[in-house]
Amino acid sequence: MDSFAIGADLGGSHLSIGLVDQHGRILDYQEIKIDNLASPEITLDILAGNASRMKEKHENVKALGIGLPGNHDSVKGICRFSPNFPQWHHVEVAPYLSRVLKMPVFMLNDVRVATLGELYFGAGKGVKNLVMLAIGTGVGGGVVINGSLVIGNEEAAGEIGHMTIDLNGPLCNCGNYGCLEAFASGPSIAAHAAEAIIRKQSVKLREKIKSLEEISAKIIAEAAGEGDSAAFRILEQAGRAIGTAVANLAVTLNPERFIIGGGVAQAGEPLFSGIRKELEKRLKIIQPESISVLPAALGVKAGLVGAAAYAFLKSEVTIL
Ligand SMILES: [Zn+2]
Repeated sequence: MDSFAIGADLGGSHLSIGLVDQHGRILDYQEIKIDNLASPEITLDILAGNASRMKEKHENVKALGIGLPGNHDSVKGICRFSPNFPQWHHVEVAPYLSRVLKMPVFMLNDVRVATLGELYFGAGKGVKNLVMLAIGTGVGGGVVINGSLVIGNEEAAGEIGHMTIDLNGPLCNCGNYGCLEAFASGPSIAAHAAEAIIRKQSVKLREKIKSLEEISAKIIAEAAGEGDSAAFRILEQAGRAIGTAVANLAVTLNPERFIIGGGVAQAGEPLFSGIRKELEKRLKIIQPESISVLPAALGVKAGLVGAAAYAFLKSEVTIL
């Protein structure tokens, strides 16, 4: 008999929740708008209501897995803090939901579960050592060594966005200077694009948007694809920053694959060419060709199926 897990990806504005089988297929899916300033109880009750409905509707549902931004104690299932939920401090997410739902509940950082999603069902299938970088509003990551996700002492293994890549770099959201996130996050790329528009360096970009708020990696990539050299340069520079971090990780962990996900990965070729150029330049003791850098395969569903994969792993159910 097939086993199922419920996977939940709890972001700052939406909850995605689904019933997932052992092959990573989503059989039941719901997306619900949430208010990130509401109390934890209100948000967790919305999650519980949807999980309960899926649990009642299907047989052999083993556990609920949750991916949540922030830093957590995954053993106790406690959210220490979450940048997306400013009012959440030491919230007993898993113990509370487990009591309400009468089933095992497991919780982990959202990018770490997305890494598991890509490892088991996406661009990392069959790979033993990989690093995922999720590049969106912030830059997160996940590290897999010998087939296992690395969690770390403070559960911060994979916080690649806060790796220093420039001694004299700009201020990062975390308070440090020169972090990868300050160079390659969606907002930092958008700021460079806005500057190019204001300085009249990019005609194509200017034509594509009505206001500066509309700038996204995808739109910059479109302009680059149409021959806009400023747009191409902005994305390639972000790629070079990512490539520097990837080169540092390559000599630290020597994985065979890097997976680039998140909204910024949609920029495609200019970004990936920047990463490859930097690897060629910096990797001397490892063959750059021994490393594959691939876009994530699961898109926005990586977190949900990865949360279900985490629930399967913790429940000792085989992932197929
Ligand atoms: Zn930082």
